[in-house]
Amino acid sequence: MEYISTRGGGGAVDFAAAALSGLAADGGLLVPARWPRLGDGEWRGFCGMSYAELAARIIGRFSGASVPPAMLASITRRAAAAFDRPEVAPLREVGEGLYLLELFHGPTFAFKDVALQFLGPLLEFFLAQGGRRCTVIGATSGDTGSAAICALRGLPSVELFMLHPAGRVSEVQRRQMTTVRDANIHNIAVTGSFDDCQAIVKQLFADRGLRESHNLTTVNSINWARIAAQTVYYVYAALQLGANEKNISFAVPSGNFGNALAGYAARRMGLSIARIIIGSNRNDILTRFFNRGEMRARPAVATLSPSMDIQISSNFERLLFELLGRDAAALAAAMAGFHANGRLTVTAAQLTDARRLFTAARADDGQTRREIARTFSDAGEIVDPHTAVALSAARAAGHGKNNPVIALATAHPAKFAPAVEQSIGRPPPMPERLAAVMRAEEHYVTVQNDPAAVRALLPA
Ligand SMILES: *Cc1c(COP(=O)(O)O)cnc(C)c1O
Repeated sequence: MEYISTRGGGGAVDFAAAALSGLAADGGLLVPARWPRLGDGEWRGFCGMSYAELAARIIGRFSGASVPPAMLASITRRAAAAFDRPEVAPLREVGEGLYLLELFHGPTFAFKDVALQFLGPLLEFFLAQGGRRCTVIGATSGDTGSAAICALRGLPSVELFMLHPAGRVSEVQRRQMTTVRDANIHNIAVTGSFDDCQAIVKQLFADRGLRESHNLTTVNSINWARIAAQTVYYVYAALQLGANEKNISFAVPSGNFGNALAGYAARRMGLSIARIIIGSNRNDILTRFFNRGEMRARPAVATLSPSMDIQISSNFERLLFELLGRDAAALAAAMAGFHANGRLTVTAAQLTDARRLFTAARADDGQTRREIARTFSDAGEIVDPHTAVALSAARAAGHGKNNPVIALATAHPAKFAPAVEQSIGRPPPMPERLAAVMRAEEHYVTVQNDPAAVRALLPA
């Protein structure tokens, strides 16, 4: 299986290179040169498989010859074992034809665990195979940091440096990162904003000597291996509701568009997905795009669903590449225009094409709280604010017995206890594992907002 850049530069690379490098050499995003397509018999054959077994089958279509099947099966088993539930992602009905797919039973209680618990052992396999080591550097405003730390802790070939803005992540989020004690994990609090942290990471990557001597890499949401791992739960959930004989829709709370893009990939593989309903909070650039065919950046605002407080969705470029008929030159021009003017438009025909699969709705904080309250009173389920945005979008789009919609539940409500308490008048139950984090000893260093200060912490 080969991967090409959305911007048309560089040669094709294999899955291993895509997983290890993240970005394409020309600054574009890697996409499969051809989408794998599964036949009716294959979908039927998947029914009843365990999550790990199904994951090996689905991801195998993307990894090709890069990972031997027995190794892939062992990696997906190891990833699945990190989840609290044997089914990994339980599916529950919360209304007529309305379901929740709980993706938050992993080590950090957020859906990013699903992809990152797979990516950790996958990277270790690729590195160990070549006798190599790598240094992962990342910046986090919250959830991604702890999911990456829990995925990479203890791996012999990986050293992780995670930057967070000092005093600007929640206490739970900070403690989830800083209470991990493995020697290969390094938490760095930077006296600046999240953007400052990201700028430092960018500067370190721009140093070619450093990049090569330390084999620097990232594990951010544009990494194709993460997307591949996320297609699995679309298949897993849809099969339980009668795919591929019946059409199933999904409602996805979207930020960087990685989760939604995985649904698109599942559709391209031939899964009978009727609609992908994008939910956004007040940072609704995606919703405005799917409604009007125009992307226009605005300053991000803080909401109850902070993991979606994003204005520029990095994975959207992959969908745009498809909408533009895989015309890399047109895509590169559109992205350059967007970076220069903060504005990007598609033609009416391209918008119609996008809307064959995607619809979108936004929920502000008031609607989010009302959705949390409603789901609790209707179904007795306590949901987090991100999940509530998806549920709200699902209700706006319509669902029913013959029109089932699965809303992706992306975080455990205990991670966002104040928003939940504001909505239903009491805090969500706190899982013991999260409570333990609040008591454990923290380990991190604080440095000045300066790339040289972070550079000094890397091994010589
Ligand atoms: C990251 C995240 C999202 C957004 O997912 P994208 O793949 O970036 O669209 C939604 N909810 C939660 C809880 C998240 O952590």
